[in-house]
Amino acid sequence: MDTIAAISTPLSPGALGVVRLSGEEAPEIAGRVFAAKSGKRLADVPGYTCLFGEVYDRDGTFDTCVATRFRAPKSYTGEDVVELSCHGGPAVLRRLLAACYAAGARAAKPGEFTRRAFLNGKMDLTQAESVMEMVSAEGASALQAAHAGMEGKVSARITKLRDKLLALDAHLAAWADFPDEGIEEVEGKDLFENLRELEGELSALLSEFDAGQLLRGGVRTVLAGRPNVGKSTLMNLLSGYEKSIVTSYPGTTRDVVEERVFLGDVPLLLADTAGLRDADDPVEQLGVARTRQKLSGAQLILAVFDASQPLTEEDEELVGLIGGTPCVAVLNKNDLPSLFPTYFLEKHFKTIVTLSAKSGEGFQDLQKAVKEVLHLEKLDPNAGVLFTQRQRAAVERAKVHVHAAAEALAGGMTLDGVTIDVESALSAFYELTGEKASEAVIDTVFETFCVGK
Ligand code: GDP
Repeated sequence: MDTIAAISTPLSPGALGVVRLSGEEAPEIAGRVFAAKSGKRLADVPGYTCLFGEVYDRDGTFDTCVATRFRAPKSYTGEDVVELSCHGGPAVLRRLLAACYAAGARAAKPGEFTRRAFLNGKMDLTQAESVMEMVSAEGASALQAAHAGMEGKVSARITKLRDKLLALDAHLAAWADFPDEGIEEVEGKDLFENLRELEGELSALLSEFDAGQLLRGGVRTVLAGRPNVGKSTLMNLLSGYEKSIVTSYPGTTRDVVEERVFLGDVPLLLADTAGLRDADDPVEQLGVARTRQKLSGAQLILAVFDASQPLTEEDEELVGLIGGTPCVAVLNKNDLPSLFPTYFLEKHFKTIVTLSAKSGEGFQDLQKAVKEVLHLEKLDPNAGVLFTQRQRAAVERAKVHVHAAAEALAGGMTLDGVTIDVESALSAFYELTGEKASEAVIDTVFETFCVGK
């Protein structure tokens, strides 16, 4: 394979920046842009050796550098690799990369390092996808999930299911080879039950995917409630909780500003705070339509009520607007004498949290309640959760075929009919891990990567 080079760290001012080279000629090419103080040559030193020296091009030296040598197959890509670690200024890194090109390296394509790692059997496709997850993970759970994926936990789960299916396939083949003997009724029943069980396990994987997506992308959340119940105070409590990682950025789906806050390790995308502060504007106070609109896109509603006030018509209106969206009723201001009828909440909400947004008391209960209504409490990010649409689609396909195989069996179809579906399900599994994935599938996985990964 030819030798590729790319800047593997962000191209912005930083203490350190890394240019990575991978391929047969990596040590020689790196040796043309890097000179060790000790006089040692990268081509000669053992793997996992660091050399300190300088980088240079035709115009002379331009930075100090630590070069790390990896010998095939013990490297990220499985090839000979050199990582040149310099100062992280964009000018330094660009000049170093240009020097590597001049010395014989080719520009790496997006994800090409990881693609080579995949082709060299260092990782399967789900692990490669985890690399992307790893570099973009923000919350603690998302990080755990990505790490588990990189360790091969997703593949391990898939492989286990696939092996079950393989065993079924082998039985089917055996029966097909000895048609006279036919399937004993008992065995046919076993086969059917195994298929149903497998279908159930695939369904479980799919529902975990949905929960996992919330942890990755953030939960679109609306704080709803009549003016003065304490929405802004609650909002401040939420954003203040981990102020250092609160970021404001333009929402991706709509043109509004969303605030990303962490409630425990669940990222919430709190929509447009200005739009939620209705209190000052008398016209907006009547804005049922507005509230309805805000609520319609939400994945989570925190419906806030004021414990220190009696029930109002507006409170009742809010209840009517919630519909089927996961919701937590928040009875706020529990530090004040209670005037609010709790039976009202008990009648309309499954999950109720009493708290004081002002003092923060009860905040832990809110964290727990949110996990519960989003079905996140049972999700174990370490278990190997599906996390890309590609993985989801492959599992969905496997499930459809397993279902069809079971139906075919129950409907008295010929064994051939059952086998076709079992084998289609198997090929979905092989595609998922990349054992038998087409070039086009592999391309789609890596085209989402950035250069240098
Ligand atoms: P919003 O209109 O729903 O956004 O309500 P605000 O957050 O602006 O709160 C309205 C008033 O209630 C403010 O004076 C807050 O200080 C007060 N408030 C909010 N939460 C609490 C609470 O938990 N306890 C008490 N005692 N006052 C609160």
